[in-house]
Amino acid sequence: MAKPRSPIAPATHAAVPAAIDAIEVAYDRILRQLGEDPRRDGLRKTPERVAKSLRYLTKGYHQDVNKVLNGALFSVAYDEMVIVRDIEVFSLCEHHLLPFFGRCHVAYLPRRKVIGLSKIPRLVDVFAHRLQVQERLTTQIAQTIMEKVRPQGVGVIIEARHLCMIMRGVEKQNSVAVTSAMLGVFRDSAQTRQEFLNLVRSRQTA
Ligand SMILES: [Zn+2]
Repeated sequence: MAKPRSPIAPATHAAVPAAIDAIEVAYDRILRQLGEDPRRDGLRKTPERVAKSLRYLTKGYHQDVNKVLNGALFSVAYDEMVIVRDIEVFSLCEHHLLPFFGRCHVAYLPRRKVIGLSKIPRLVDVFAHRLQVQERLTTQIAQTIMEKVRPQGVGVIIEARHLCMIMRGVEKQNSVAVTSAMLGVFRDSAQTRQEFLNLVRSRQTA
């Protein structure tokens, strides 16, 4: 996000177009290193497109969880499990900068407070739009809900396919990586954990 140049700042790079972008320059170089010609028709705008796309896919670095959750905490007498399942997740693995994608299931057992249901997918999005490993993404979602909503416990499961494994032939095409984070009663009570797992699995027959 380039800030408009201050009119009083000295024009030290007068010859450089204002739209110059370090990521675009880098991708122009990468294309050349790959033996391509970044000037040919199909590639002429590629560095610009990739830069824009990468900024979008990592916009979570500039998003504040507190702002996302702001005003969405409600006091209630409800103390049964809240579950939002099959949240679509798209992220980039930090080891290869290739996508991993799948579904995320989030549950918590409230303690007097609940959070607006639509905020949970948004929270998942904030962390997914950063360079990630699936394990850390899972933990960050769980810990944030634990910290901000202060429930009795949280469970998060992510099931995802990693293009860095599939495209490079490291794993079979259909392999799915499953990660989970269980905090509070989801960690301490086998019954609570089981209820969560049953609710997640019931989607297959629903
Ligand atoms: Zn990877």
